[in-house]
Amino acid sequence: MRLSAVQCDRVAGVLVGTAAGDALGAGYEFTKPSKNAVIDMVGGGHFRWAPGEWTDDTSMTIGVARALAESADLGTSEGLDAVAAEFLRWYDSDPADIGNQTRAVLSHRSRTAVDMVWHAKNLGEHKQGNGSLMRTAPVALAYLDDLQGCVDAAAAVSELTHPAGEAVDACRIWSAAIRYAVLHGSFDGVRKAVTLSSDPGRWNHLLDEAEHGAPENFSNNGWVVHALQTAWWAITNADASSPRHLQQALELCVRAGADTDTTAAIAGGLLGARWGVSAIPARWRRIMHGYPGLRSNDLARLAVRIAFDSGRDELGWPQADIIDYQGYRTDHKAVHPHDDGVVLSGAAHYSTEPVDAVLSLCRVGTTPIRAEHIEFWLVDGGVDRNANLDFVLDDAARTINDLRRAGKRVLVHCVEGKSRTAAVAARYAVLLGRNPDDVRKAMPWAKPHPALWASATR
Ligand SMILES: [Mg+2]
Repeated sequence: MRLSAVQCDRVAGVLVGTAAGDALGAGYEFTKPSKNAVIDMVGGGHFRWAPGEWTDDTSMTIGVARALAESADLGTSEGLDAVAAEFLRWYDSDPADIGNQTRAVLSHRSRTAVDMVWHAKNLGEHKQGNGSLMRTAPVALAYLDDLQGCVDAAAAVSELTHPAGEAVDACRIWSAAIRYAVLHGSFDGVRKAVTLSSDPGRWNHLLDEAEHGAPENFSNNGWVVHALQTAWWAITNADASSPRHLQQALELCVRAGADTDTTAAIAGGLLGARWGVSAIPARWRRIMHGYPGLRSNDLARLAVRIAFDSGRDELGWPQADIIDYQGYRTDHKAVHPHDDGVVLSGAAHYSTEPVDAVLSLCRVGTTPIRAEHIEFWLVDGGVDRNANLDFVLDDAARTINDLRRAGKRVLVHCVEGKSRTAAVAARYAVLLGRNPDDVRKAMPWAKPHPALWASATR
């Protein structure tokens, strides 16, 4: 289906948001952080995660996503077999952490989804655990044009390991809500989705309890019901007036304690769907990584690939090795007027300039470069095409500042270095307390989009 630029931003947010919550919560699992504790993506915890490393929640999510990216139809037994095979592939990687019910099911090494479901139904006491809700987010991306298909697929993927009615209902509700958030940019889909569950009255009551209660009221969040309530409590109790809501709600999940990586992963899928990958700060995206050797940019591309089933990517992050910007004037280059460690350029220089870090403000290919590579979701247009314009420009400028404080040389580029690069350079000037108009003198070819310039120099 055709998606707008902001919808595509939200598509990418689904997987990166899940992973961001997971990696944020990983170091706090099984704890209750004290009131004054600073919550950050520091890793550690029981399993000694590296800073930014995601856990089983995201690894299993990626399993579902990879099957969907290969066009698995979850309405067929072959499609579910593909998901089951991805789960086993992950199980065979000897993961540090794995849920009890999931381990009990996967240890039977089922070759088919039917066999996996049989074991899941006949095994264990943890069928109502949160282990299927934590990985349900990508289902929505494959069914953006089909609500009933989305709900049925979410149920089928849950049943592979967690066939209990509560777990299946939670996956139905959350996947439908994520689908709605991608399409419409709001959280209203949660309440709408309740009617698709087996007991709408009970789920509405549980959501009321979450909105008006406190984490102590749903502290057993290894149970799928309390996990969903914790995520919804965090989302509805954080300040939702700006895209910083995403970070604040994830932090609340961690502060609620117990299964922190999973409640934050669950919340993160919906928050990323609502706010987009452009609301996830670069200081998190730069360090996020995990099974099977992926980073945050890979997750964004994987999500886009599912949503655009033919692999079309006019709006999203491309799958191509190299983007050919033939026909554009890409060779402009200047030094930032207030910091000679910052190069401002068009796309011709991003893979060749001897710098430590490259900030790409336009789409680039997947071919690795020698420098640290940080991509920003920024469209050369106004707020109608950039849902989080102020946030992204500020995030890019702060990222330059962080890199420079670490003694690194930085290149910032877009296609022609005319508009987006000039805007970010201006925002960096503002951050340094200098005159942003100096940027236009240093880049005489620049022609920043008025909305970008206005936001940058505010
Ligand atoms: Mg985990």
